Amino acid sequence: MVSKAFRRKRVLKRRSPSGKRVVIYKKRIPGVGHCALCGCKLHGVPRIKQRLAKTEKRPERVFGGVLCGKCVALVVRDRTRLKTGLASRESVPIARLKWIDVLKR
Ligand SMILES: [Zn+2]
Repeated sequence: MVSKAFRRKRVLKRRSPSGKRVVIYKKRIPGVGHCALCGCKLHGVPRIKQRLAKTEKRPERVFGGVLCGKCVALVVRDRTRLKTGLASRESVPIARLKWIDVLKR
């Protein structure tokens, strides 16, 4: 059994210059972020574990790093339509209503 410290690490089996088999443990690369609404890959979210400045970690917009740009545009559009009375809550998809309510604050 591998010790707990190595369980989350990436295992690489290599042959050293002397001919011995060596097992190398490396840090895992964080997975790609996905949109909470449509599930597409998020752009502008780095896959590195280094220390980064706050503005380098996610896009600097509403729901940056949570929703993709297309979904944010839809949420903002629906919110505006609800506010102006052009659309009713029944006409907006239920999945988007949650995000519209968060945006209202
Ligand atoms: Zn999306």
